[in-house]
Amino acid sequence: MTPMTPITPMTPNSSIDRIQDFPIHWQNPSYLSPSGICSFMRCPRHFCWSRGFGLRPRSIEGLEDPFPNIALVYGAAIHQGMPFARKGLLEEAMTAFKETWKDYDQAQDPKRNQLCAGLIFHEVMEVHQLSQFGIDVIPPPKSYGNREDLSADEFLFAVDLGFSRLFAGKIDAVGQGQGPDQGQDQPSIWAIEYKTASMMGSSFSSIWEGNPQVVGYSLALRIALGQCLGTVIEGIHVAKTLSDIVILPIYVSEEEQDTFRRQIGWIDQMISHYAEEENFPRQITGCGSYGMFGVQGWGLCPYRFLCFPKGGDDWRTNEDLFEVSRHDLFQDWTD
Ligand code: SF4
Repeated sequence: MTPMTPITPMTPNSSIDRIQDFPIHWQNPSYLSPSGICSFMRCPRHFCWSRGFGLRPRSIEGLEDPFPNIALVYGAAIHQGMPFARKGLLEEAMTAFKETWKDYDQAQDPKRNQLCAGLIFHEVMEVHQLSQFGIDVIPPPKSYGNREDLSADEFLFAVDLGFSRLFAGKIDAVGQGQGPDQGQDQPSIWAIEYKTASMMGSSFSSIWEGNPQVVGYSLALRIALGQCLGTVIEGIHVAKTLSDIVILPIYVSEEEQDTFRRQIGWIDQMISHYAEEENFPRQITGCGSYGMFGVQGWGLCPYRFLCFPKGGDDWRTNEDLFEVSRHDLFQDWTD
């Protein structure tokens, strides 16, 4: 039997808990987005690292367990091309894609490259030409100008739910049309969200009911525009060969919205409480997929090097793995 290697416990000063003891500037988040809500629900300390300190993992070559940046960048590049592909503009879709993807084209990933992106956009064009779904994208306000961080059809929202932080975020597109329920008298508003995924089928279709983006976007549009039936998920299969596009309209009920609104209120209070105590607790069930009992897509937390420094080193030895990047939704935004 191979003897076990003992795990080195953390030294008492290897992790700092009080916000003011960190050398990086803490900034109290002024708004909550659907992804910020997910971050907090995963682990309050995750929210503190990502939203309070604005720490983003760097992709470091040679690191044994590199951060999965390439999938995120590919998803972002596909998002840039989608508004054009939906309108049948393949060339413009590829140009928008390449602008985001240009630094990653040498990656030689068999399912993330220009050829596969072209197949995806071609399929998107076909699906939308044949689709009887009948939802037209509403152009976003001209006041956004040409912001580089927004794709062509993206909408920004910030709504006051009566809490200390606004509920804010970005929606890939907003559409108007009869939707699948042809019995309606009036065309209805829908949020539209593009999702790239390596696996489709029932495992993809069954996960969107009650999703924070699906419910949150619909809630925001009901408040901002007076109506919204729900959110349409346009699923894009990231594959080596032929791509599937799945269009899923998800209706959102008043009850779901009320539940979500109450949850935002509770999170808002908890953030204020932890910020006052200067300590965001670590929720260790959020560190990896085992604690979540195999939840699909629940990888290792990128902040584990800060929370659990290797070999009991001081957490500062891993500071270089991160960069401070505070994403401000409200930058240059006038409505
Ligand atoms: S490593 Fe674990 S405790 Fe630390 S932020 Fe991530 S989920 Fe929270």
